[in-house]
Amino acid sequence: MLGGTIDGRRLAERLGDDARLEVLLSFAGRTKELRRPALPHRVGGFGGADGLAAFLRAQRFDALIDATHPFAAQMSANAVRAAALTGVPLLRFARTPWQRQPGDAWVEVHDFAAAARALGEAPRRVLLTVGKLELAAFAAAPQHDYLVRTVDAIALRLPRARLITARGPFALADERALLVRERIERVVSKNAGTDATYPKIEAARALGIPVILVQPPTLPAAHEVTTLDAACAWVAALHGASSELGESRRGE
Ligand code: NAP
Repeated sequence: MLGGTIDGRRLAERLGDDARLEVLLSFAGRTKELRRPALPHRVGGFGGADGLAAFLRAQRFDALIDATHPFAAQMSANAVRAAALTGVPLLRFARTPWQRQPGDAWVEVHDFAAAARALGEAPRRVLLTVGKLELAAFAAAPQHDYLVRTVDAIALRLPRARLITARGPFALADERALLVRERIERVVSKNAGTDATYPKIEAARALGIPVILVQPPTLPAAHEVTTLDAACAWVAALHGASSELGESRRGE
């Protein structure tokens, strides 16, 4: 399983609880301090699609699950290619992007440069939660006061920026308090589609704060599911195991 998200970790843990399965969870190694799961895992790239295909063959995997972040487009493309090369069945554990609700003041954009432009000319107080890899685009809009939130402590190259470090999931009350305390006027976020980081969107809605939302990249076609139950059912069907696979441990 290709991981790197809270949802992917939840799925791996649920599948890993089943004694009939051996699950190996793979991380890119993007965070300095990986919160290590209790199940078998590895860290680091495979060397492109060919490297992943070789890895799948060498270790005789029966299935590949892509549970990466929706913006990890390269890894998802590599998974599709490696599955085609090896014939190993591929499931993408995808997330439905957040949908606009009444009261949302969203500006939807398709890349981070457009997000920086969408902040406008006038200096604003901005909560920037796009991840450390995407901060460079905001150098083009240096007039804003950025509150940057990342998992790791990093050196900021934006002139008027402060850093806070935190790892989701986040709670609505905390997100609301942060926006009020910091007098935030704009939130910038990826449309990651996960519950874990949605509370900032809800808090912004409640406070009438516009959100600049970067839409996820389009991925090559793959068999997709969006719920833990559906992912477990796919694995169960693949193994010809009981349809209760994965369900059996729920609620324990
Ligand atoms: P990416 O561009 O899709 O992947 C780049 C390379 O990283 C892949 O080609 C692969 O290297 C390696 N890689 C990615 N995920 C891996 C995994 N689960 N196991 C092993 N290797 C993996 O992804 P990215 O550079 O990490 O990030 C792109 C965007 O996604 C950024 O906006 C980032 O913030 C967001 N994101 C990524 C993750 C994550 O865990 N990757 C988590 C949260 C957010 P090889 O080609 O050598 O195999």
